[in-house]
Amino acid sequence: TFMDVVKAAAKQGSAASDSVAIRDDQKSYSYQQLLSGAVNISRLLSNKELQSSAGNGHLNGARVGIIAKPSAEFVAGMLGTWLSGGVAVPLALSYPEAELLHVLNDSDVSLILSTGDYHDLMQSVAAKSSAKCSLIPSIPSETTGVEKMPLENFQSSHGRCGEDPALIIYTSGTTGKPKGVVHTHKSISAQVHTLSDAWAYASSDQFLHCLPLHHIQQIISKSFIYLFILCIFIVHILDTIILSRNPNFTLTASIHVHGLFNALLAPLYAGSTVEFMPKFSVRGIWQRWRESYHEGKMADDAITVFTGVPTMYTRLIQGYEAMDPDLKAVSASAASNLRLMMCGSSALPYPVMQRWEAITGHWLLERYGMTEFVMAISNPLNEERRAGTVGKPFPGVEAKILKDESGDDALGVGELCIKSPSLFKEYWKLPEVTKGSFIDGGFFKTGDAVRVDEDGYYIIMGRTSADIMKVGGYKLSALEIESVLLEHPAVAECCVLGVEDKDYGELVCAIIVPEEEEKRKHAEESKPAITLDELCTWAKDKLAPYKLPTRMFLWDSLPRNAMGKINKKELKKKLSSEGH
Ligand code: ATP
Ligand code: MG
Repeated sequence: TFMDVVKAAAKQGSAASDSVAIRDDQKSYSYQQLLSGAVNISRLLSNKELQSSAGNGHLNGARVGIIAKPSAEFVAGMLGTWLSGGVAVPLALSYPEAELLHVLNDSDVSLILSTGDYHDLMQSVAAKSSAKCSLIPSIPSETTGVEKMPLENFQSSHGRCGEDPALIIYTSGTTGKPKGVVHTHKSISAQVHTLSDAWAYASSDQFLHCLPLHHIQQIISKSFIYLFILCIFIVHILDTIILSRNPNFTLTASIHVHGLFNALLAPLYAGSTVEFMPKFSVRGIWQRWRESYHEGKMADDAITVFTGVPTMYTRLIQGYEAMDPDLKAVSASAASNLRLMMCGSSALPYPVMQRWEAITGHWLLERYGMTEFVMAISNPLNEERRAGTVGKPFPGVEAKILKDESGDDALGVGELCIKSPSLFKEYWKLPEVTKGSFIDGGFFKTGDAVRVDEDGYYIIMGRTSADIMKVGGYKLSALEIESVLLEHPAVAECCVLGVEDKDYGELVCAIIVPEEEEKRKHAEESKPAITLDELCTWAKDKLAPYKLPTRMFLWDSLPRNAMGKINKKELKKKLSSEGH
């Protein structure tokens, strides 16, 4: 089970169990403390009253919802659940109440573990479902007083392992209703092993974790008043009314495997330290790197590995450009000292990659994954990392490309199918959907279109459902066009999608977020930052004529979810219905 994995991490090396597993809010927790916290939770979970729905002494696969900000408590909640034989269902803090209820009811959560800050909220939500609610006991903060862990006693004491479900993660719903993805002890173990092996995670590594396990930060900071004052009187009522009329909502944020596996579970498996940054802050991250490598010296708690989504790197670059020259120099030099910087979750624009290298010297390691199999394809740690590609399948991963049935593969692309030891077991309570997602031989259909280059590097062309546009007789990749448009100096961000058209089927539409500087300069002359004509004239020797956008919008920002992803399907529907 995964618990064995963490025990292995705790035992690793002489000092490992006293070495720091988690740092949050200036507090450090050793592996020993973290595991003690997990044991306390498993004791709480074996409490008869809490377990009425599960019956006997163990949870026997009962679902346990966990809600806490990224913290030692959150991790202990998951480990404690596994110790007791339960299935962990991490809950996103930013789920509006109705979405939380959907997840709780869909996965039949019988117990919710929460920290104090969310207890009242969760009790009110729990009252509307069949779940009970319990507080996560605080993690022992001193090694003294921590009961020495009889680790061996927990060897699969609950009798659950291998193919038994351990974790249900809801997909972010970028392309439809969120589905509960069921991972087993085996698929989790396989994945953490693969990741830590491929990227050489070690007990000496320290991860700065500021990915959304979930997204309390934005809600609290931006919408504090809205949430806590208006919410009580209005939103609650509106939500109930609106959602009862429109049950087909999509989740606005979700638990994400990038934050959970790449930056948390795999590092713990390797005995590394994970430091949670309470709030994604560009300044905070640069500062933390500067503290790590000050005047050429490496601090004891120096950050060695960082992993983020493309928008994080875009923001970090903007933050860097705004620094004064002295600060720029120390910041860049500090960042260059990290061992590894990685990127994924959506396509990494080439200009971002280049700029990042110019600043920090790091050629970002881009990799590809999804909730259903976590990570499957990655650029190598030591060999060539090829821009515009996500690298090659991990050892043990088989990839197959399903050619278009119509035989029309102008792009030389097909749908990527994956077989991997980390593949999920099923979509929770959706046997038909599960069945429809697999092809012969146990390969899972990803819904992503890919191409392989002459050296076996995989190129993600985008989602078959939203990024592949059908314009006239051509099939085009929105991601390819985006990466070209992004090189235009006036373009800060862009999103390309096909909008419906009577004659052509779809038209290439570009939504552009202009660079602030360009916007300001042009505003003085009462002109838009860029026009469609200017954009096309500039792009015409970079893109074939049929790939040039025929519609363009200038927006202040793009509607991204917590992971920086854009729900193109929804945007497409909206633009098409508005007749653009
Ligand atoms: P839903 O399945 O509910 O629609 P989602 O697919 O966005 O949501 P995830 O499983 O978190 O939820 O995301 C996986 C998707 O992210 C992949 O299918 C792929 O389209 C995209 N993706 C991940 N890594 C990369 C990458 N390096 N480059 C391009 N796209 C990526
Ligand atoms: Mg998906």
